[in-house]
Amino acid sequence: VKEHGRNSYQFFKQEMNDVIQMKLILEQELLNAIEQNEFCLYYQPQICGKEHKIIGLEALIRWQHPEKGLISPDFFIPIAEESGLIIPISQWVLHEAIKTIANFKEFGFSNITMAINISQQQFKSESFHDEIARTLKTFNIPGRFLELEITESQAMENAEQTIEILHGLKKLNVSIALDDFGTGYSSLAYLKRLPIDIVKVDRSFIQDIEHDSNDAEISSAAISLSHNLGLKVIAEGVETETQLAFLKSHNCDVMQGYFFSRPLPENELLAWMKSFAS
Ligand code: C2E
Ligand code: CA
Ligand code: CA
Ligand code: CA
Repeated sequence: VKEHGRNSYQFFKQEMNDVIQMKLILEQELLNAIEQNEFCLYYQPQICGKEHKIIGLEALIRWQHPEKGLISPDFFIPIAEESGLIIPISQWVLHEAIKTIANFKEFGFSNITMAINISQQQFKSESFHDEIARTLKTFNIPGRFLELEITESQAMENAEQTIEILHGLKKLNVSIALDDFGTGYSSLAYLKRLPIDIVKVDRSFIQDIEHDSNDAEISSAAISLSHNLGLKVIAEGVETETQLAFLKSHNCDVMQGYFFSRPLPENELLAWMKSFAS
C-alpha cells in the first residue's frame, strides 16, 4: 500500500508538473500573441424582432494562431483571466470594437450598436470607466452605441459591488446587458436593483424550445419577466425558423444566432449586411 501510495504520488507530481508546464507555455504564447497582434474580432449581427433589420453587433474575439489556426475564446479567455493577460487583451477589444462602430458609420450603417463581452477583471478594474470614456472620445462615438455584456454569474458574484460599478458606467450613457441569463441564479430582488437595460436569454434555453416544454416555458417566462422590469430581451443562439417564430410570438425584441449569421470578420459582415439590407 505504501509503495503504491508513493508511486501514485510520483505520478501525481509528474502530472502536476505537466499541467504547470503546459500553462506556462500557453501563457507565453498568449503574451506573444498580444505582441504579434494575433487577435481579431468577429462580429455577429443582432436582428430586430419586429422589423427584420440589423440593429446591433456582438464582437467576439478569435486568436489567429500562426500554426494552430483560429482558436476559440472559450479556450484562451480562461487562461488569459488567470494570468492577468486579459487586461491588455480586453483593452484591445474595446479599442477595436469602437473603431469598428466608426468604420460602419462611414459605410452608411450609422445606427448600429456594438456589444462587447466584459471579463470580470476588466469589470472590476478601477480604470475601466475612464478607458471606455477615452476610447469613445478617440473615435467620437456617443456612449449609447456601446453595450457592455456581463454574465449573470459575474453580476451575482458580489451583487452590491456590481450595482455600484454599473451605476458608474451608466453615466457614460452605455447600455448594460446581462449575458447568459437563466444560468446564474440571480435573485429577483437583485435583478430589479441592477441598473441593466438588456437581458440575453441563454442559448441553452433557446436550443430546445421546440422539443422541451420546460425550456419553452423558461424562455417565455424570462421574456415576460424582463419586459415587466422594463428591460429589452435578446435571444441568443437562434438557429431555426421554428425558434424564431416562437420567440417572435412571445415578443422577444432581438434575435441573434446562426439562423441569421455566424460571427464574421468585418469585411465579410459588411458584405452580408449590404445584402441583408437590400
Ligand atoms: P457568449 O458571450 O455567450 O457568446 C455567444 C457564443 O455563442 C459565441 O461563441 C457565438 O459564436 C456562439 N453562437 C452564436 N450564435 C450561435 C448559434 O446560433 N448556435 C451556436 N451553437 N452558437 C452560437 P464564441 O464566439 O466562441 O465565444 C464564446 C465565449 O467566449 C463568449 O460567450 C464569451 O463568453 C467569450 N468571449 C468572446 N469574445 C470575448 C471577448 O472579447 N472578451 C471576453 N472577456 N470574452 C469573450
Ligand atoms: Ca456575449
Ligand atoms: Ca451569452
Ligand atoms: Ca456563454
